[in-house]
Amino acid sequence: MNIHEYQGKSILKSFGVAIQNGYVADNPEKAHEVALKLTEETGTSWFVVKAQIHAGGRGKGTVTETGSHGVVLAKGLDQVKDKAAGILGGHLVTAQTNATGKQVSKVLIAEDVYGPGDSDPSEIYMSVLLDRGNGCNIIMYSPQGGMDIEAVAEETPELIFKESIDPAVGLQGFQARRIAFNLGLSGKAFKEMTKFVAALYRAYVGCDATMFEINPVLKTSTDTVIAVDAKVSLDANALYRHPDYAAMRDTSEEDATEVEADAAGLNYVKLEGNVGCMVNGAGLAMATMDIIKLSGGEPANFLDVGGTADAARVETAFRIILKDPSVKAILVNIFGGIVRCDRVAQGVVDAYRNMGNIDVPIIVRLQGTNAEQAKKLIDESGLEVRSVILLQEAADAVADVLA
Ligand code: GDP
Ligand code: MN
Repeated sequence: MNIHEYQGKSILKSFGVAIQNGYVADNPEKAHEVALKLTEETGTSWFVVKAQIHAGGRGKGTVTETGSHGVVLAKGLDQVKDKAAGILGGHLVTAQTNATGKQVSKVLIAEDVYGPGDSDPSEIYMSVLLDRGNGCNIIMYSPQGGMDIEAVAEETPELIFKESIDPAVGLQGFQARRIAFNLGLSGKAFKEMTKFVAALYRAYVGCDATMFEINPVLKTSTDTVIAVDAKVSLDANALYRHPDYAAMRDTSEEDATEVEADAAGLNYVKLEGNVGCMVNGAGLAMATMDIIKLSGGEPANFLDVGGTADAARVETAFRIILKDPSVKAILVNIFGGIVRCDRVAQGVVDAYRNMGNIDVPIIVRLQGTNAEQAKKLIDESGLEVRSVILLQEAADAVADVLA
C-alpha cells in the first residue's frame, strides 16, 4: 500500500529518523496558518510547498491549471497562501502520472531546510527494499541524489551503491559506516549518517515496509542529515498489525475499479489490453494471460474470482471487467475443482441475462467437475456465449472473435 509523503514522514519520525518538519493543509488559508505555526516552532522564514499525491517527480511536474510546479519554495510567510493556491485543486502531471495527472487535495508545508543562503547542501539518494534474489534487505544509495537520479543510474551506474543486509542479523555498525564512507562523508556528517541509516533501517523493519525511497536525503552545510522526501510503501498483508497505518489508505489515489473489486473480494488488476479475463485462481489467471498473449491478444486485466464463483460474484466480475471501454472480448476460464462447473455455467447465464446489455463476445472455458454438463447448459442457453473445453481452443476462439 502506498501512502503520502507527509504520512511516510510521520512514520519515519516515530522511529527516530530525522525529517524535514511540516504540516499538511487542504486549503490556502490553512497553509498560511500552519506556516505561521512552523515559524513559531522552528524559526524558519522560508517554506517549501509540496503537492501530496501518490507519484514522484513532483518537483519537475506541472499543475495543468496554473503552470505551477508540484514542489515550490515560498520565500517568506506572505507567499505561502498564493503558492499553495497554485497547487491545491489542480491536476499535477509528472513523469510518473498519466497525461491527465493527479488532482491535488493536500499540500505539505515544510520548513525550508536548504536554508536561505545555504551554499553547499548535498542531495543523497537512499532506498531500502527487498532483494528477492538473495532473500536480503538492501540499502541502495548514491551521493548523486536529487531529481536526476534516473539519469545517474543510466549514465554513471558506478555511483549507485548497494548494501545487503541479512534480515536475521540486522544492520551491522560496519555497514552503516561503509555507507557513510562511500557517500564521501567525514566528521560530524559521517556520524549523523550512520545514525540516520540505523534509524531508517529500524523503521523499515518496524513498520513492515516493502519499500522506502528517500530522495533526497539532505546533508546540510552544517552537517546535519535529514529526510526531505519520503516515498513509503507498506506491506498490505501486514496492515492488521498496524491499524494506524491501515487508516492512512487513500483510495482516491487508487484505480477506482480496483477499489470496487477489492471491496467485492475480487482480486483485480487493470492492464492495457483488450481481452477481459475472468479466472479462478491466481496461477490459472497468469496462465490464461500467457495463452492470450501467445495467441496474439493482450489481456485487459488480471481477475481472480476466487474459489466460490457463484452467480453473484460472476455478475460483479462481469460488471467490473465491462467498465473498461477497451474490452473487446471476455474469456471466462474456470477450473471446477471445489466449485462445480455447471454451477458456474448457471452463474454465467444468470449474470448475462441479468445484465442484459453485454455487447462483447464471451468465450467460456469450464474444465473439471461436471464440465460436460456446463458446456451443454451454455450451448443450450441461446445466449451469445461460446463455450470451449481446451485452453488452446479458448485462446483460438478469442483470436477469432477479435480478428
Ligand atoms: P519529488 O520531485 O516528487 O521527488 O519531490 P521532492 O520532495 O524530492 O522535492 C523535489 C525537489 O525539491 C528536491 O529534490 C529538492 O531539490 C527541492 N526541495 C525539497 N525540499 C526543499 C527545501 O526545503 N528547500 C529547497 N530549497 N528545495 C527543496
Ligand atoms: Mn524526491
